[in-house]
Order: sequence, then structure tokens, then C-alpha cells
Amino acid sequence: MDKQPAYALRSYYVNFASHLLNSWNVNMTSPEAGGGWGPGEFGALFDMIKSFGFNCFEFWLEPTLYKSALAEDEVFTRFAATMEKVIDIAHDKGLMLKYILAPNTIGHEWYLACPNDPADRALILKLWRKWAAVMKGADIVGIFPGDPGGCNRNGCDHNTFLDLALELTEIVAQENPRAVVELGTWGTPFTGWGDDMLRMEGWDGYFASMLAYSEAQKRVHIWNGTPDRAKRSMADFIQRLPQFPGDMIVGINLGFSPDADCTMGGDARPFVREIAKSHPVASWDYSVAEGELVVHPHWRLPRIFSRRREEYAVAPYYGAMSYTMSPMLSHLCLYAAGQATIDPDRDPDLVSREFCRRVFGAENERLGELFEAFEVVPGWGHYPRRKWSAIEARKAYGEIIERLEGADMAGCDLPLFPSPERYRQSLLWFARLFHQLASPTPDRAAIRNDYYRECYRVYDKAPKAVDERPAMAADTFSRLFSV
Ligand SMILES: [Zn+2]
Repeated sequence: MDKQPAYALRSYYVNFASHLLNSWNVNMTSPEAGGGWGPGEFGALFDMIKSFGFNCFEFWLEPTLYKSALAEDEVFTRFAATMEKVIDIAHDKGLMLKYILAPNTIGHEWYLACPNDPADRALILKLWRKWAAVMKGADIVGIFPGDPGGCNRNGCDHNTFLDLALELTEIVAQENPRAVVELGTWGTPFTGWGDDMLRMEGWDGYFASMLAYSEAQKRVHIWNGTPDRAKRSMADFIQRLPQFPGDMIVGINLGFSPDADCTMGGDARPFVREIAKSHPVASWDYSVAEGELVVHPHWRLPRIFSRRREEYAVAPYYGAMSYTMSPMLSHLCLYAAGQATIDPDRDPDLVSREFCRRVFGAENERLGELFEAFEVVPGWGHYPRRKWSAIEARKAYGEIIERLEGADMAGCDLPLFPSPERYRQSLLWFARLFHQLASPTPDRAAIRNDYYRECYRVYDKAPKAVDERPAMAADTFSRLFSV
């Protein structure tokens, strides 16, 4: 008999935020731009993630939808109707469904409502209750501190967030009694609350004004929490833990930084051990399987497995989340991430070859090591095991192209979404672009345009992302191998 999976909760997280849309993500917020999914697409995705080893589908309840929810407009009505079916489909397939949200981030423009302002607080509570009712049947409701989110107006700090979280937990218990709450500590911890956010005199609570201010100050608007603040926040949190439900999951990484390292807010391991004595703990290691920013096929397998082993060495973790913003592309990394939550001790190179054997046939098992040459794009969570010269990378891309062109997808034994053939075509497209970039004289302007057009055409019609990152991603991609 197979041994028990290491993690009881194995979550596959698609972030379809309005700033992370691309041709391999789902667009649930701007119907006019296309690329939305109905219950059928979600169901097909669920078959795939189940075959990868996951048992939970997770998403961020996108703040753009809050305005729709308040207006009860067509976008909201369609979203609510789809999600009602999606919850049932997940359950029929034996999966849990989890949504997370920063309670105070409202609208496409990311207004950070202040819980110490009575009108804003009423708005937060109204929206929270509405979502809890709409998403009735969801198994896990994640109260997420921010990023984007948080507040330091009107005296708000981490304790304001904890007060609010207690109230939100109560609302979930009333509207969706079978759900379990996950309280996230994400950040340094509790991103955006109190001194983690820059202090801006007269701030109106809008993300854009904070971003402009932080750019002028040449500082990041969040992630300013020190280890000292982390210690105080966690002491307050642990002291108040008995006020929360006993089955509440606590989302906590091994370190208080965007990559769960011991930088910024410092080492989280002592707190993980302490919390694990009374509550199930789950990691929310956002960048380990895929980073935000540049969309491309990642290869982060060694780090995925080592991170899961590191967690297990600290405490008996109950859950782990694996993130993607390209659920129609990032199959290899997410397959590995699923396998790592079942058995963190597996050899990542063998898992990579196993995936390629299952998808492209035994004769193409070698793709499992060639795909490492895709992991050359600087960005969030980019800690490559090896460096690649342009010459060596170009050789690898050439062989990838040759093998993918000849691969027969009829024998693929994983239910890849939307199809094995689309996956092959997408990888080929990327491999050809990488191959050009690694040539002695690439036409970088043309590659940038090709990349933008192919990846981000959704923004021709969808409202521009609030942080303009697609343009930055195209720039970064087109500069690869330039030094
Ligand atoms: Zn406030």
C-alpha cells in the first residue's frame, strides 16, 4: 500500500487577479476581453490537478469583483452562478475548495478600506458576509492580511487585523458553518498592517497614491516590518489564538519574507513550532513553484522539494499551497509541486523525467532535464540551480524544439488542461523565442513585441493592470542573455 501523503491539505492555487492575466490564465473579471471559464473548464482543470496529487483548489477572490458584488451587476451574477456549480464539481471530484481574500482591498483600483473608519468597516463586513453566503459550501475560507491590503491610517496595526479577523471568523461561522477558516500571517508578518506599510501623511487609502509615494521615496510600500515587529506581532497573535476556533488553520511560512526566507521580518520557525502545538499549520510559499511577473514555463523542481523537506523538519505541517498564474502552461512545475506534497523525499530530477515520459513518451524522457534551461528569467522566486551560457542554453532550446516537433501527444497519460496538444504548442512557442534570444544577434524589439502580443492580448480589451506589470514583464523577457 502507498504511504500516507505527507501533507493532508494539498492546495493548487490559481491567482486570476486582474494584474496577472495572460494567455494561459483565466479571466473571470472582464468578460469583454474573453478567456473566461465556465463550470466545464474548471471541471477539466480539477481532473488535471487531482492527477498531479492535489486535493484542494484555491483562488483569490479578486477585489475587482467586490464592486460588481456591491452593484450585483452581470459580472457578479455570472461569477456567483459559475462558482456555485464549481463548488459542487470540486466536491463531486473529491476536491476541497478554498478562497482567500484580503478583507480591506476593494475594487480594481485597490482601495484599502480602514477598519478604524466606521463607514469603511461597515463596508468590509457587508462584503465579507456577502461572499461567505455566495461561496457557501466552500471548504476553507482564507483571511489574508494583504499584499495588496492592510492599513496604517487611523491607528491601524496588526492588532486591528486580528480584531477584524475574529469578527470575520464569526461571520463565516454564521453564513457557511461547515467551512474552516485559515488565518494567514503572510508577510513580515501581517503584510501592510501598521509599520509594515510606509507612513504617508494624509494618505487617501488608494494603492496608486501609495505607489507614487513609495516610488518617490525609493522604498517598497510594504515589507518594511522588522524582526522586532514580527516578534511583537506574533506574541500578540499567539496570546489571542485561544479566542479563534480550535480547528482554524494558521498559514505560516518558515520565514517572514516573500520567499519564506529569514530576511525582512526574520525567522518564523520558533513561531511555527509554537502554533503547531495547538493548531494545524499550513505553508503559503507563494514563489516556490512559480513567481509572479514574467509568464513562461518554469523549472523550479529542486527548490520545490527542498522547501517541503525544510518545512517537515520544523513541524508536522498540515498543508501546503502551490501557486500558478498560468494554469494552462505551468504543468511540469505544478505536477512536481503536487508530488512534493505527497512525498517530499522524491528526487526532483526523476520526477521531471517521469512527467516528460508520461506526457511526451518514453523516447522524450530527456526533455525532463532540458526544460531546466527555461529557468533563466530573473524574477520572484528565481533561484536557479544552474546558470546557463547563451551558447549552452541555445543548444538545449534547439533540442527541445526538435523533440517537441516530433512528439506524439496521443500517448499522454495525464489529463492536461486544456489539452496535451495545446501544452506542446505553448512550449514550442516559448522554446523558439528563447532560441532566438540566445542567438548572437537577437532582434530584441521584435521579440518584445511578439512576447507582449502573444502573452497579454487580453489587455487589449480588459482594463489595464493597476501596477502595469505586463509591460515590465515583456521588457525583462526581451533582455534575456543580453550580458
Ligand atoms: Zn486603518
